Amino acid sequence: MKFASYDYEGDRSFGIFLRDDLLVDLPEAARTMAYPAAIGDTLDDALRSWDETLTLARVITGVPGSERKTVLERALRLIASVQLRSPVSHPSKIIGIGLNYADHCREQGIPPPKEPVLFAKLPSAIIGPGDIIRWSRNLSIRVDFEAELAVIVGRKVRGVSAGHAGQYVAGYTALNDITARDLQAADKQWVRSKSLDTFCPMGPVLVTPEEIGDPDNLPIRCTVNGTTYQDSNTREMIFPVFELLARITRGITLEPGDVVTTGTPHGVGVFRKPPVFLKGGDEVVVTIEGIGELCNTTEELQEN
Ligand code: MG
Repeated sequence: MKFASYDYEGDRSFGIFLRDDLLVDLPEAARTMAYPAAIGDTLDDALRSWDETLTLARVITGVPGSERKTVLERALRLIASVQLRSPVSHPSKIIGIGLNYADHCREQGIPPPKEPVLFAKLPSAIIGPGDIIRWSRNLSIRVDFEAELAVIVGRKVRGVSAGHAGQYVAGYTALNDITARDLQAADKQWVRSKSLDTFCPMGPVLVTPEEIGDPDNLPIRCTVNGTTYQDSNTREMIFPVFELLARITRGITLEPGDVVTTGTPHGVGVFRKPPVFLKGGDEVVVTIEGIGELCNTTEELQEN
């Protein structure tokens, strides 16, 4: 199943896709059907009672096409009538992974890390599909793109093995780990360079594990103004998705809605010869097979 967060008639809500152009609004469907379990008003809320949400979603997708009009009519939303947002907006944390692609280590001429390199990316940086990545030229002139597969956690988890980690995944989305390379180098650590406001585009949808198939074998790309800069596959990951979750949760509790963004493949701007950085008016698109396209534009500001 594919879930989406969106704004509809001025309110944030969420739903599941019946077709590429048609959603069912889950809070509205729950009201219409007098569904007994509490379903949140937003996908952030719904992730805290994910089992109930999945059950309702399965009931809805099981409604025969001939009955949809009568059973679900008030809850049907054409994709053209909603503005898609980031699947989650208020995770308790976003954990990033540095240097997790073999091809990304090769382009830097460094050996693959023996342990995952964890960093924090602040949730206040989140924006959605179609939103504008903005920064001040007085702060950074070396803003880079990083196409990444992001995991959205569906159940609270600590100390899980790789073999059981999949049970705690609500789904997957695309994330652009926008990074100010000059700040990253100057600060000697990464939080500020990866957490400026708008530096965490996510979306366009949350795809459930059974629909995504093998998360460690997904083509992943990044284009800027139509030119392909990153073109790889998640099988290049040094630590695959479930292994990452096992290593992270050895000492860190992951909460429903938390995001783990699993690293970027080769082709980022800073290691190109000559280097390529984002500038105002660019269109940057992250594409992951099975998830879709996360498209954002950019704006450079002159003030601080
Ligand atoms: Mg990254």
